[in-house]
Amino acid sequence: MPNNSINDSESIANYKKDALDQTFRDAVGTISKEGNRNYVIPQKPKGRLYNLRSYFSYFYLILFFTLPFIKVEGEPVFLFNVLERKFIFFSKIFWPQDFFIFAIGLLTFIVFVILFTVAFGRIFCGWACPQTIFMEMVFRKIEYFIDGDANQQKKLKAMPWNTEKIVKRVIKIFAFFSLSFLIANFFLGYIIGIDELWVHIQEGIFVEFGTFSALVIFTLVFFFVYYWFREQACIIVCPYGRLQGVLLDRNSILVAYDYVRGEPRGKLSDKTNDKGDCVNCYACVRVCPTGIDIRNGTQLECVNCTACIDACDEIMDHVNKPKGLIRYASENGIALKEQMTYTWRLKLYTLVLSLLLIFLGVLLVTRADVAARIMRTPGQTYQLLADDKISNLYNIKLVNKTRKNIHLDLKLENMKGEIKQVGVVDVPKESYFQTSFFITLKNEQLKARKTKVKVGIYENGKRMDVLTAIFLGPSI
Ligand code: SF4
Ligand code: SF4
Repeated sequence: MPNNSINDSESIANYKKDALDQTFRDAVGTISKEGNRNYVIPQKPKGRLYNLRSYFSYFYLILFFTLPFIKVEGEPVFLFNVLERKFIFFSKIFWPQDFFIFAIGLLTFIVFVILFTVAFGRIFCGWACPQTIFMEMVFRKIEYFIDGDANQQKKLKAMPWNTEKIVKRVIKIFAFFSLSFLIANFFLGYIIGIDELWVHIQEGIFVEFGTFSALVIFTLVFFFVYYWFREQACIIVCPYGRLQGVLLDRNSILVAYDYVRGEPRGKLSDKTNDKGDCVNCYACVRVCPTGIDIRNGTQLECVNCTACIDACDEIMDHVNKPKGLIRYASENGIALKEQMTYTWRLKLYTLVLSLLLIFLGVLLVTRADVAARIMRTPGQTYQLLADDKISNLYNIKLVNKTRKNIHLDLKLENMKGEIKQVGVVDVPKESYFQTSFFITLKNEQLKARKTKVKVGIYENGKRMDVLTAIFLGPSI
């Protein structure tokens, strides 16, 4: 192994500048100089990490295809019904009135993603991102099954349109389209609910044209992405991938090539002492689904799929060298042989995340099952009644966020008086309700033209909420 003495940031930069060709950064690997698509045909990966990822993806796929069928009290565990503005997370129903909780939840999620990325780079992309799982673990496997491994695929591509090519293309398009259609159905199931989807299917496309159109659009988008667009979704479209440049630092753990150990590259037959462990076999490049050479350093295109780790480990085994020339490691871990450190940046993110999690927890625990708003009825002031009494008319808007019908009573909290309901406050489950009521006070109770009144909302004697309204009286 060469003696690559590197001990500070400047010498790392100089070393990398001298040792590694950086011209690849001038272009995106999947686009040619002429601006055409460089179609990546990676070799089928194999190895320990690929097997682990496969097991993980089976679990993920089972979850994806079974969750819409799992119900709690007749409702799905997750629902993202943007059309009816109804959202269910872990069986808890959220309404637009819970927007604040939703915003804090989203903020917490973003901080979590940042913290996770600063520490572990794009591990999510390789192991849990739906795009990678469906592309690499479902569609790519079907492609290997139909078309064969990379060399056979290249041969097929170069072939004239003979029977073999036509048959294989038809089978592949049929398989990809059917699977895209299936995924689109489940995707829609997460939006409108799987039962609702089934009802729409039974009613037919002419009754439920909107659902049918959504299904066609989703199917075509999935088919386009998995049949043709592929890794470009991660490289060009995904905003998370684009964030890497600002989130990663020298301590982030990534799939990385150990250039200290590997450089300078040389053939195994080259017996000179100054060669590194990389035998320049290109096995890591051949399996890469985004078509990059990880030996060039951290790149935006790398989705941390670990295929190159498995490929290189196999080569290291063959040449009797230690595995891990490509491995999960940080830049400092490789250059300075440092262990992962808990940097001030990580500490700060952890603090912010902890505070947000506590705040979110408090919001969720104290979240009311009924949301209510009281407003004085527009265009009305006050009514003078007999016995020196005055009344005001109010509108009340209620949202029942629970799965049961509820009957609500209204009571004045801060003074004696009467509440006369114009309608009965029976609020059906999971719905909005609006009604009107009068508040009647004695004239002597009013000390100013405007008086604050507090109205308690009760269900079975239990106070759910207290609202404040203004009671108008004659000028004093
Ligand atoms: S460089 Fe390695 S980890 Fe990154 S995308 Fe390519 S094969 Fe996957
Ligand atoms: S697989 Fe390993 S040995 Fe072969 S080129 Fe890549 S880094 Fe070098």
